[in-house]
Amino acid sequence: MSGEQNSAVGEQGSAKLANAAKADESTKPSKAAKAAKTAKTAKTAKTAKAAEEATRAGTAKPVKAAGRAGTAKPGKSGRAADAATAGEAGGTGEAGGASRRAPRAWKPESRLAMVRRARRINRELAEVYPYAHPELDFRNPFELLVATVLSAQTTDLRVNQTTPALFAKYPTPEDMAAAAPEELEEIIRPTGFFRAKARSLLGLSTALRDDFGGQVPGRLEDLVRLPGVGRKTANVVLGNAFGVPGITVDTHFGRLVRRWKWTEQEDPEKVEAEICEIFPKSEWTMLSHRVVFHGRRICHSRKPACGACPIAPLCPAYGEGETDPEKAKKLLKYEMGGYPGQRLAPPPDYPGRPAAPLGTGDE
Ligand code: SF4
Repeated sequence: MSGEQNSAVGEQGSAKLANAAKADESTKPSKAAKAAKTAKTAKTAKTAKAAEEATRAGTAKPVKAAGRAGTAKPGKSGRAADAATAGEAGGTGEAGGASRRAPRAWKPESRLAMVRRARRINRELAEVYPYAHPELDFRNPFELLVATVLSAQTTDLRVNQTTPALFAKYPTPEDMAAAAPEELEEIIRPTGFFRAKARSLLGLSTALRDDFGGQVPGRLEDLVRLPGVGRKTANVVLGNAFGVPGITVDTHFGRLVRRWKWTEQEDPEKVEAEICEIFPKSEWTMLSHRVVFHGRRICHSRKPACGACPIAPLCPAYGEGETDPEKAKKLLKYEMGGYPGQRLAPPPDYPGRPAAPLGTGDE
């Protein structure tokens, strides 16, 4: 099935799911629903005070930890309360107070229920991370391609701290293709595996110069033929430098979608194929950013901060990490924890502080 077909199916399914969800919520009045209403009132009134009342009513979730870090916007409690209602309707966990009460056992669900829950998680994440973006600094497709190759087995911050010197010396594929390998290796050494990465950069720059007129191609089949460029890298470049929708399955994305039971696949290509079936094509790129943002900030590999997680009521893996709200808050990273993000030059709407350049002590 083509991406367009996926998209079409997804869009139609979306309307049905929205109606089904509406019916569910309307037939299950509950404490959480009442509190959701309170939160909705807060949204209308746009007063943070009313939102806090909803929080005290037990519906607003620890996304407000982000609020304390200066990222929350008025009305988020309303969305959180909606999610709480959804969680209760689906029998998936405790509304809002998931961090304070023992969650119910996760029950098997139909595919329709999973798809509906997956789309709710996506909507929640869109509220929590409205500014989700690629965390690699780049100014053109070539820089994004190179930065993505360098990001293997290291942090985006380390790449961002390395690339300013790299692009100052080799701004184009032609310049990089002509680089002395030892000089290139020395510049990219901080990103690790620098010999292999230097070989990839020399190979892909040469291919861009000789086969593509010095331009990064905008087609998946061309990108994956470049040395050191796999499907993940190609999708990053297509999605963020060319506006072509794509799901980027990195370590965070794979971990989270398995925790959320959107898929059981381990192979990134199979994960990508299954997630593409759940969401309309128009959501693919931003969904990837939101999931990766959540994985980096809250749902960590070893110690997920479940007690501070805004989507806890929708998560089958709630309890895999720290559930005590106060302890969980201490696990939050980047802007959620009050620290800089990964970019030296983040977008204007990014609420965290820009990271510091290499050698300034914030590495
Ligand atoms: S595992 Fe914990 S931190 Fe991760 S999404 Fe689920 S509730 Fe949130």
